[in-house]
Amino acid sequence: MSDARLREEICRYGRSLFERGLTPGSSGNISLRLDDGGWLVTPTNASLGFLDPARISRLDAGGELVSGDKPTKEIPLHSALYETRGSARAIVHLHSTHAVALTMLPEIDARAALPPMTPYYLMRAGKTALVPYYRPGDPAVADAIRGLAGKYSSVLLANHGPVVAGDSLEAAVFATEELEETAKLYLLLRNLNPRYLSPAQVADLVKTFGLDLPSHDDHEGHDHG
Ligand SMILES: [Zn+2]
Repeated sequence: MSDARLREEICRYGRSLFERGLTPGSSGNISLRLDDGGWLVTPTNASLGFLDPARISRLDAGGELVSGDKPTKEIPLHSALYETRGSARAIVHLHSTHAVALTMLPEIDARAALPPMTPYYLMRAGKTALVPYYRPGDPAVADAIRGLAGKYSSVLLANHGPVVAGDSLEAAVFATEELEETAKLYLLLRNLNPRYLSPAQVADLVKTFGLDLPSHDDHEGHDHG
């Protein structure tokens, strides 16, 4: 895909996410990793609903600005996930309501923030990790993401929002949407004793679709059953 086409894609998906209320104001950012190791990333203080393709920040492989506006301040979230997930080509970060709400609930398992509720959540977002709250701009959040060692393509930042990687921009957007909708389902069903997918149903999806879900065995936290 040409540089011009990729810029158009970022603007198109950004507008779609914004118009559906998935990230308000100037929150949220999108990045794409290019073949030369450089990136395209949305500018600081830019609303995803009103991006200008010509002003998208172009960074070189060393993270230096080559052209366009100053990049988002949340670059460290993106670089930490790219560093640890070699297959990631695009990352979407939103401040989406239900995913943010989920991070504040007391029972959330930091190694599986959502139970296996639907097949498409597992197929697109996999399992989701939760990292603790950090003040915006605190470099420690990148260390927390690196600490997950690339096992998770979807990560929730407590009291802040999701960061989701995909092997294309479309995949990263779709996975972010699945995560948001699954968080919404969880909140709708919380305390209603819902039936989640059984371990056998999850195992069948993993086998049939070759899913690479992080192992949960070495974890000692809460259990979603
Ligand atoms: Zn943010």
